[in-house]
Amino acid sequence: MRPTTSAEQTKPGVQEYKVPLNANQARVEAARCLFCDDAPCVKACPTSIDVPQFIRKITTGNLWGSARTILQANVLGRSCARVCPVEELCVGDCVLNEDGRAPIQIGRLQRFATDYAFARGWRYAEAGPASGRSVALVGGGPASLAAAHQLRIFGHSCTIYEKRSRLGGLNASGIAPYKMTDEIAMEEVDWVLGIGGIEVRTGIEVGCDISLEELEQDHDAIFIGAGLGADTLLTDLPGSELGGIEGAVDFIERAKSGCVDLRRVKRALVIGGGNTALDAVRLLVRILPPGGDVRLLYRGDAAVMPGYAHELAAARVEGVGMHWHTQPVAFLGEIDEESGQPRIHALRCTRTDDRKRPIPGTEHTLACDLVILAIGQSPAVARIASTPGLEFVGGCLRVDATGATGRPGVFAGGDCVNGGTEVVQAVKEGMRAAVTIDEYLKGVER
Ligand SMILES: Cc1cc2nc3c(=O)[nH]c(=O)nc-3n(C[C@H](O)[C@H](O)[C@H](O)COP(=O)(O)OP(=O)(O)OC[C@H]3O[C@@H](n4cnc5c(N)ncnc54)[C@H](O)[C@@H]3O)c2cc1C
Ligand code: SF4
Repeated sequence: MRPTTSAEQTKPGVQEYKVPLNANQARVEAARCLFCDDAPCVKACPTSIDVPQFIRKITTGNLWGSARTILQANVLGRSCARVCPVEELCVGDCVLNEDGRAPIQIGRLQRFATDYAFARGWRYAEAGPASGRSVALVGGGPASLAAAHQLRIFGHSCTIYEKRSRLGGLNASGIAPYKMTDEIAMEEVDWVLGIGGIEVRTGIEVGCDISLEELEQDHDAIFIGAGLGADTLLTDLPGSELGGIEGAVDFIERAKSGCVDLRRVKRALVIGGGNTALDAVRLLVRILPPGGDVRLLYRGDAAVMPGYAHELAAARVEGVGMHWHTQPVAFLGEIDEESGQPRIHALRCTRTDDRKRPIPGTEHTLACDLVILAIGQSPAVARIASTPGLEFVGGCLRVDATGATGRPGVFAGGDCVNGGTEVVQAVKEGMRAAVTIDEYLKGVER
């Protein structure tokens, strides 16, 4: 069954999953809030947005103040309203769940308030008096954007070095289009830059086009918010070079920009058990031609998969099939009639046991004409990994509780530190590091 509820048509065949509230619905929903003291929804938010306060302001019609409460705590609060896994965070912890009542739709109320503010061009922060100090930010995703905005409030000038041609990071390129369009992410980037004093240098890869040491000569401090790297691919499996096998992050980005041709795809398999795999299957059910078959293939089962239960439940409702305890062993191809090139036509698999080990004698073949690999991303910071003082553990940059690395003047946050979580966590870590950088630049003893 395909979802039919929609407010915005995001790309042909892809409609927004969570529809916005109108003013009336927002007021009614806000009025259900109990405005709890010591509210669990606030504690569940990584950026500690004062949820009861912003909701109360909706009930009194103070939308200026409501959006200010949100955006001062989380400068990317507009996209977080759309992309946050609220079922696992604020909404999941709303006290109304305990009474068996429907929890407050915090994400949709947050969206209502922030969309209202953006539509009117409201801003809530100004750059502080110039400190004469400058900070380089490596990468232009949520972590660096949040850090740069906060650093400007402290009066430090900022330069973002981004290897791609635009800012936004995965919040622009990786978020499934049924959750948020590219346009919303880019409007938010412009809004953040609107504080002024943030120089943007795109097309520059730190560690390749310019070294960290060179940045140190030009700036007083550095924030690394480089995120994660390219999709991990199963290059050791026979047939991995066939056409029709793609990494999930790459595929989602191309699908968002309308650059995938799925006209002849009838059966798609997505390999992996995380949220990226769930995003990929949920996107595929929306964009495959009618009658298309989408299945998830994971070497564990629903009980152990790292992806969120609410996303899995939604995928099931949308008609995604599941192959639990299954692992690929080879990609099988044939010559594609149209292109004359070898292309995937089946996946050779084996069953796995409770410890995800292959079970001998269980090999079988699944027909498919597209395979999406959602089994992780490589570290993006590989090129700067050898800089003395920087320590990497399991591909992640190690920082202390304040966001400082072992190299004086170098700080970090976001996916490159936490291994990949959510936009809201990257924002929190970027804002936290900005406070630490400000103290460092002022010579505050820690
Ligand atoms: C497919 C997918 C779907 C997701 N869906 C959601 C979701 O629904 N909700 C949610 O909250 N989170 C989601 N996330 C996670 C979220 O996108 C990330 O947690 C968040 O974007 C991390 O922000 P960041 O700034 O740390 O890194 P990124 O967003 O990855 O930004 C890092 C930036 O640094 C740049 N860069 C890297 N190396 C260098 C270098 N050496 N020099 C210069 N620039 C460099 C990159 O090009 C990139 O622009 C998803 C992630 C993926 C992969
Ligand atoms: S826990 Fe629920 S009812 Fe209480 S303040 Fe938060 S949103 Fe309102």
